[in-house]
Amino acid sequence: MSMRHALLIRPAASDDDRADFSGTFVAHDPGAPALLLGDLAAQRGDGVFETVGVVDGVPHQVDAHVARLAHSAALCDLPAPNLDQWRQAIAAAATLCPAGEASVKLVLSRGVDGASTPTAWIAAGGAPDFTVARTRGIHVVTLDRGVSRGAAERSPWLLLGAKTLSYAVNMAALREAKRRGADDALFVSSDGFVLEAPTATVLLRIDGRYVTPPPEAGILHGTTQLSAFAWLEGRGENPEYRDVSVAELERADAAWLLSSVRLAAPVRAIDERALPVDAELTASLNDALRARTA
Ligand code: PLP
Repeated sequence: MSMRHALLIRPAASDDDRADFSGTFVAHDPGAPALLLGDLAAQRGDGVFETVGVVDGVPHQVDAHVARLAHSAALCDLPAPNLDQWRQAIAAAATLCPAGEASVKLVLSRGVDGASTPTAWIAAGGAPDFTVARTRGIHVVTLDRGVSRGAAERSPWLLLGAKTLSYAVNMAALREAKRRGADDALFVSSDGFVLEAPTATVLLRIDGRYVTPPPEAGILHGTTQLSAFAWLEGRGENPEYRDVSVAELERADAAWLLSSVRLAAPVRAIDERALPVDAELTASLNDALRARTA
């Protein structure tokens, strides 16, 4: 994201019920220094984040994003964020976004090592151009995440399902996918279940039914996927969350990667297997995602 504006936020207690939080965030030049070297976001990637899509100044799925921020914070034992404060900060940042497709990124760090106050900021900027991915489609390769389907429940300290700042592994997976000649990766569990992409939810159409793996599988509950499900339901479909085995990928006749800024990118191949791109459905879905009013 090309960062153009930033707001530094003084995180309020979760039970602070004042109506107006505007005094708790201040504009900051994103080109100027802001973090102390001791901040654990920089030192250990110890914090959580969200990226909210914004179209023509309208931020999308704000409630779902702040709820997921709170969920991630809880998994990381960070102080619970004040949801109203973040909603107001998102609204303020969205007014700073350029016209067209843009994004705001929220960050909540554990703060400076040894201090007990979190650091928080929000950055507003443009969005990459996803036109080619949305029309031509993308080639994904399956990559083993090295954890089993039950790892999130068995080993909560792995923070699976939290959107932490530690995305080095996700970025390494993207580089590996590119080394293999693909555009993106699709993580699968060590025991053969489809999970998610490094920065997106996967939506599959199998036997005429739209499916996505459940958040309990240690993956993020995608806000774009929530919107896509609502849109599919509006068209009389009955999308479902369920475990999908890697073997079942053979039966998928369409697939998409969904995320807040890319929206829906159709998958044109999984590993060596080509998939048809449903251009009409994809275009309608992307139109609907762009036209959201909340
Ligand atoms: N899964 C992962 C690992 C992600 O990083 C993201 C978004 O960046 C998603 C799924 C999709 O979530 P959303 O649609 O809320 O952007």
